[in-house]
Amino acid sequence: MHEQSIALNIIEIVEQSVDISLLHSVELIRIRTGLLTNIMPEALHFAFSALTKGSKLENSRIELNTLPLSIHCSVCQKEYTSEEIVFDCPFCHSDLITVNNGDVLSISEIVLKD
Ligand SMILES: [Zn+2]
Repeated sequence: MHEQSIALNIIEIVEQSVDISLLHSVELIRIRTGLLTNIMPEALHFAFSALTKGSKLENSRIELNTLPLSIHCSVCQKEYTSEEIVFDCPFCHSDLITVNNGDVLSISEIVLKD
């Protein structure tokens, strides 16, 4: 399952970046995703809580922030962003567009409890 391996990856990265004695106090993990990663938020939340059950990350949450697509049209040379997946340029209707950040998937912040 797509979301399960993503959740595993997130857990591995958090475990590597946070001091092991502080792992239990991870409150929130903010994740940036591109629109084209096709992540289903509910499935990711479910996989994350199933995989962290009984671990030091059991009480932490993940928060997904979907980035608007950053698009460049090679016909009219316009640059724009879109909250939806697009297949052609809204200005000149060419399909020669390049999406720059659709497959982003990264942890933007790890928030610890006080
Ligand atoms: Zn265009």
